[in-house]
Amino acid sequence: MLKMTDIGLFCEPGNFYIDPLNPCDTAVITHAHADHARAGMKNYICTPETASIMRSRIDQNLSIKETKYNQSLRLGKTTVSFHSAGHVLGSAQIKIQFNKKTAVITGDYKRAFDPTCPSFDVQKCDIFVSEATFANPKYIWPSFSDEIEKIYKWYEHNYKNKINSIIYCYSLGKAQRLIKTIKEAYNIPIYAHQAIRTINKIYKKHGISNLETKTISKIKSFLPGLIVIPPGAKKSKHIKHLIPNKTAMCSGWALNNCRDCDMGFVLSDHADWNDLIKTIEETEAKEVVIIHGSGPLLRKYLNEKGITVTNYNKFKQAEKTVQLSIFQ
Ligand SMILES: [Zn+2]
Ligand SMILES: [Zn+2]
Repeated sequence: MLKMTDIGLFCEPGNFYIDPLNPCDTAVITHAHADHARAGMKNYICTPETASIMRSRIDQNLSIKETKYNQSLRLGKTTVSFHSAGHVLGSAQIKIQFNKKTAVITGDYKRAFDPTCPSFDVQKCDIFVSEATFANPKYIWPSFSDEIEKIYKWYEHNYKNKINSIIYCYSLGKAQRLIKTIKEAYNIPIYAHQAIRTINKIYKKHGISNLETKTISKIKSFLPGLIVIPPGAKKSKHIKHLIPNKTAMCSGWALNNCRDCDMGFVLSDHADWNDLIKTIEETEAKEVVIIHGSGPLLRKYLNEKGITVTNYNKFKQAEKTVQLSIFQ
């Protein structure tokens, strides 16, 4: 039903690719992050939310067939449907039914709470193609609300000392999850980079409230609120004048180190080790394919439970290159 090709993950009986790396006729897209939704495909199929983001980021005139969650469509000899992945707005697992077999391709996903998108919707299947970005028992996420409280306390301390609080978040998904939660819990002003404000507008159009932010002043050296910018804009001239400042990253990788930041908060839009295993078990799949991450430990764990694991390493290289993109 599925095979890996140079273009990407291919469903032969349906004659379409999922999140293809290279140009093709029909691309089924899990979500709008740059390492999944690329330019150059003749036709796209994705959720309406993903379509809005792709039109804004890639091209207003893309040929897209929008398909809502839980609706089925016929592609070649297969039946395809989209089911929420809980990763970012519009993110979907792709369910493919063919010859009495069901495969589910997750794209990126998480099980932790996110007020900006519906939660992960478990689909029973025979073949489960899972991302495995954090497939290591050392990655166990702390509670979301505890991390949010830590961010607020960090900001409050800086604020009292007239120090700017600059927080780095990916502009699609992470930033909105943080902004909405902080606003609703603490009602403090939020200043955001233009790339984030553009995505906020799309979220608002799709019914996600409390994402209002202020633009970052080019004159004032101190901003009395949380300043949210994408990691790719770290060296941007728009924030150079914000002195003194403290910086923080918001990522699952903050469990390892905080690279060139003063602080790290563990906020991830991916499943941690426990949630990867919980999810795989809940799908009752007998065959698991791991993409977007290597996961030798996950393979060993699942093999011991009698689950067959295939590793599509080919995606690893491509992932690494695009992860650096500021447009994630
Ligand atoms: Zn993603
Ligand atoms: Zn990804």
